[in-house]
Amino acid sequence: MSSTVYVVGAGLSGLSAAVHLVKAGHKVSLVEAANHAGGRCRSYFDQTLNHRIDNGNHLVLSGNRAVAEYLEIIGAEDSLWGPDRAEFPFVDLQSGERWTVRPDRGVIPWSLLSASKRVPGSSIGEYLKGINLGLAGPDKTVEQCLDHQGPLYRKFWEPLAVSVLNTSPKEASAQLLWPVLRETFGRGERACRPLIARQGLSESFIDPALSWLDRKEAMVSLGTRLKDIGCDGDRVSSLGFSEQRIDISEGDRIVLAVPPNIAQDLAAGIVAPDEFRAIVNAHFKLPRGSRQETSFVGLVGGRGHWLFVRDGIASVTTSAAGDLVDRSAAELAKMLWPEIVTALGLGKVETGVHRIVKEKRATFAQTPLQTGRRSGPKTRWNNLFVAGDWTNTGLPATIEGSLVSGKRAANVVLETL
Ligand SMILES: Cc1cc2nc3c(=O)[nH]c(=O)nc-3n(C[C@H](O)[C@H](O)[C@H](O)COP(=O)(O)OP(=O)(O)OC[C@H]3O[C@@H](n4cnc5c(N)ncnc54)[C@H](O)[C@@H]3O)c2cc1C
Repeated sequence: MSSTVYVVGAGLSGLSAAVHLVKAGHKVSLVEAANHAGGRCRSYFDQTLNHRIDNGNHLVLSGNRAVAEYLEIIGAEDSLWGPDRAEFPFVDLQSGERWTVRPDRGVIPWSLLSASKRVPGSSIGEYLKGINLGLAGPDKTVEQCLDHQGPLYRKFWEPLAVSVLNTSPKEASAQLLWPVLRETFGRGERACRPLIARQGLSESFIDPALSWLDRKEAMVSLGTRLKDIGCDGDRVSSLGFSEQRIDISEGDRIVLAVPPNIAQDLAAGIVAPDEFRAIVNAHFKLPRGSRQETSFVGLVGGRGHWLFVRDGIASVTTSAAGDLVDRSAAELAKMLWPEIVTALGLGKVETGVHRIVKEKRATFAQTPLQTGRRSGPKTRWNNLFVAGDWTNTGLPATIEGSLVSGKRAANVVLETL
């Protein structure tokens, strides 16, 4: 009987592991507790809005190599949308000031020598401080590395860091922000074009992966929760699901691609982050006649951080939203709608139909302390491996980080076979 790799969890990390294992010619069985795949990155039909929405706005950058590779394998490389040139428009909700960050084409940002090309009011010295992020030790926070009194901090570093790390830059790990800067802004304009799903997250990242796995005859079981793991010495000997228990034979392997708290419950002894940060997404139907083409803008001086417009829906994302997550949907809508009105210049329009989506455990808290708790892909069981945005990829907990974690787990499994 041929051996099987059981991948548990069909979020991006599990899908990535499954895709890379199948591509390498292995028999894969992917099991997912929910009745749908995608985990924290998916789309669904919302009855209130009468519209399909994403659980939260997700932005990737053209320099995300694992994203490009994954989308190419599953045949969804044309499913993302972005401007023809890297541009990040911002609006200050308090002063009404607007500016656009336009990275240089080359790797050396010569244009920053000209004050008119820099973020308004900022100095070249504030940009140069960014190098401190690359030199930072594991205990340093983003705020400790930068000039946090200067205009560049408020108008660029802070919104960038909180969106990438979903953690206030006061406490976020500098070492986690650096690889993102190096791989995108550090490689010039072509590597930092912002990209969003043209239709929806599931249409880009999830459904094409499931179809690809199906065509390759991988087994995918939704609505199948792993309840416990049976061990025999240094190996896993069985997997207990609600309906059945599967014996794990000598050649089988398991990739656990579940959130960190669940991985720890299933396999005691796995070290993983245990603090989380929330994200609140507020989706509003735009009034007829307002500008509705796909766009996004960074928000400064309010509670939202990014505003995305797609297909008649305006969605505001607030990262590191621990202080908002317990407020009522009505209160959050009342707080965030005026920010959309200002950013899009809608004039006096009442709050329309809306949906507030709260993800309490959107990502782990990407502080130096919690980052030190990342582990994997190997575990103390020689046939059990872990994947997930929380594992030790050296990258933040993002789509790119998840896809890298799945590929790394797949590669380590392949080495053992
Ligand atoms: C609101 C929001 C906005 C975000 N914005 C961005 C962004 O702009 N850019 C970006 O790059 N990233 C963003 N992220 C981060 C990104 O979504 C995550 O890093 C990524 O989706 C994590 O994928 P994962 O597979 O590691 O984990 P998950 O998506 O959590 O997948 C784990 C899967 O395991 C399943 N599972 C759990 N327990 C079991 C069990 N016992 N048996 C079987 N299955 C089980 C779960 O149901 C789930 O499907 C955002 C996240 C959120 C929540």
